Amino acid sequence: MNLKAPPYITEIAPYVPGKPIEELERQYGITGSVKLASNENPLGPSPMAVAAITAALAGLNRYPEGAGPALVAALAEHWQVDGAGIVLGNGSDEIIAMVARVLLAPGDEAVIPRPSFLIYDSAVRACGAKPVAVPLKDMAMDLDAMAKAVTPATRLVFVCNPNNPTGTIVRQKDFEAFLARLPDHVVTVVDEAYIEFARAPEVLQTMRLQGRDLPLVTLRTFSKAYGLAGLRIGYGVMPPALADLIHRVRLPFNAGSLAQAGALAALKDEAFLRRTIATVHEGLDALYRDLAGLPLRCLPTQANFFLIDLGCPADAVFEKMLHHGVIVRSMTSYGFCDFIRVNAGLPEENRRLVAALKDVLGEKI
Ligand SMILES: *Cc1c(COP(=O)(O)O)cnc(C)c1O
Repeated sequence: MNLKAPPYITEIAPYVPGKPIEELERQYGITGSVKLASNENPLGPSPMAVAAITAALAGLNRYPEGAGPALVAALAEHWQVDGAGIVLGNGSDEIIAMVARVLLAPGDEAVIPRPSFLIYDSAVRACGAKPVAVPLKDMAMDLDAMAKAVTPATRLVFVCNPNNPTGTIVRQKDFEAFLARLPDHVVTVVDEAYIEFARAPEVLQTMRLQGRDLPLVTLRTFSKAYGLAGLRIGYGVMPPALADLIHRVRLPFNAGSLAQAGALAALKDEAFLRRTIATVHEGLDALYRDLAGLPLRCLPTQANFFLIDLGCPADAVFEKMLHHGVIVRSMTSYGFCDFIRVNAGLPEENRRLVAALKDVLGEKI
């Protein structure tokens, strides 16, 4: 075989996901392990979503309505935005890829924060475009440096709020000033995968800015607060003219019928959302309290996860934690070689994390 892939494809770093529980248990021959590595919902899926999905099973012989009109109408109503600007995706990951695909040609540039969600980099590279990485400042998005990194070749800017993996936020007023500085050929994508967990009142909420014909995309997902990561459904809210471009490249049935039905029910399951947010906040508070005596540093967060500076190589700690049946995320692939990222779980899972970290770091000392 003589594969002739373009260099911009072969240069893409493969995405390293959190280790699945099944893989760990198969490898180590253990059961009852705990995964706090992918910022998933510890309560399981929304029960209303599960019921709706179950009811939708009988229709699986039919293709879905591609653009998901019922879910789009419900989202438009929920956010008081124009449904013509809402696009569904196979997770919000797919919206990132589609926005990049319609706006970036080879040679164009996209400004991305670093470290941040790894998919921005690969989505930009997949178009033959150039990711221009701007380092975080004090673990947060450096909007001033990002605005300065914009050139005539820039078509896209990615903002992650709260930022994965640092848990820091962008403030509403800082973002509005940033947006006003950008030339109008630049589209700003704000990824709000964790926005439901932010407790700071000054946190940027871009839904408030939609409907003003700004070059702005809001990304939301059902994977985290709504507990539907395995279902693969997310959406973007944007000016209808941009949505129109995306519909041209969107695969006709990218959001499956179960995903549409589950998301529609989850959107209405406000009790589940409230319970999720309360569980996450209580879990975070307990973890910060219980980790306080250990030889490590917990960074503050506005998401459902946070970084822990171990002061020693994270990969080794990650491996040892696996033997305790606890999966965390090593931040080596994000360039933080001494850091792990953990998300809040159920009380018992949080206790398992603390106990395992105590054991593992105790061995080191
Ligand atoms: C989890 C996550 C998403 C959501 O991805 P889906 O494809 O919707 O599951 C998007 N952005 C960030 C930063 C994330 O961490």
